[in-house]
Amino acid sequence: MKHFTIFGDPVSHSRSPLMHNYVFKALDISACYSRTRLQDGSQLRDVFFAKALSGANVTVPHKEAAYAQCDEVRGIAKAIKAVNTLVLEKGKLIGYNTDADGFMSAIQSFGEIKNALILGAGGTARALAIALRNGEISPTILNRSRGRLEYFLSEGLECFDWDDFTARPYDLIINTTSAGLSDNELPLPRPLLMELLAQAKGAIDVIYGKETPYLREVKVSGLPYKDGSDMLLEQGVLANHLFMDGEVPIDNIRSAMKQSFSL
Ligand code: NDP
Repeated sequence: MKHFTIFGDPVSHSRSPLMHNYVFKALDISACYSRTRLQDGSQLRDVFFAKALSGANVTVPHKEAAYAQCDEVRGIAKAIKAVNTLVLEKGKLIGYNTDADGFMSAIQSFGEIKNALILGAGGTARALAIALRNGEISPTILNRSRGRLEYFLSEGLECFDWDDFTARPYDLIINTTSAGLSDNELPLPRPLLMELLAQAKGAIDVIYGKETPYLREVKVSGLPYKDGSDMLLEQGVLANHLFMDGEVPIDNIRSAMKQSFSL
């Protein structure tokens, strides 16, 4: 039996074990998926091999540490410099980032999007900024402080902190901050958010499973919107497809994993 896990801290809230185990059971695959709380990210590689894992997902705050410990990084993860999926291949640890492609699938339903404003500048914002740029959607990053903008500047992306930003029209407003995750905060001052929503075509929050203060404001604005559930599903489908080495049809994985969302 193959063994998979999700590394994170905290990790108790993660829906990944439910999603992947549901797929394994529904498709009669001999595998199981657990969660592993890991405080020291530098131990990730050692723990991966000690547990004899076939693959893993990585969540907050270890995605950059995982990137640094891979033998090889493939695809868009190379530009993002963060990894959320690990696969053991011929004894080597191979890293991927399925958050980026998962997000791009999730925003298909908004129709044609030319530009987007990303609120926040953490690991998720990096993945989305690179994915949007690859998809020919122009990203702008807005963060409350300057420190984390360094990466985006080095990628030649347009970015601002709250002090040097002036609102202008963006088709899609994306919340990647953790504001609203375990508090009651908005990701940016309310008057500025209102001005941005008034000019947008749609809005998305990558947080899932709860209505954040941001999504409440979006709802009132009447814009098309979604939370992070579709992104969560799609990143999971892509990760599972990698875990199965592409041998299980992706549509079968998606329809099984989707059912786990109704549990
Ligand atoms: P990070 O910790 O790397 O980054 C957090 C960002 O949020 C920083 O830019 C920080 O700003 C900003 N921030 C935090 N609190 C506030 C606040 N009160 N007001 C304004 N800005 C704030 O987090 P990640 O990028 O790894 O994850 C972000 C979110 O994305 C999490 O909620 C996570 O659950 C979700 N996520 C969802 C996925 C899905 O599949 N749906 C996949 C991956 C992540 P500063 O730099 O100033 O500190």
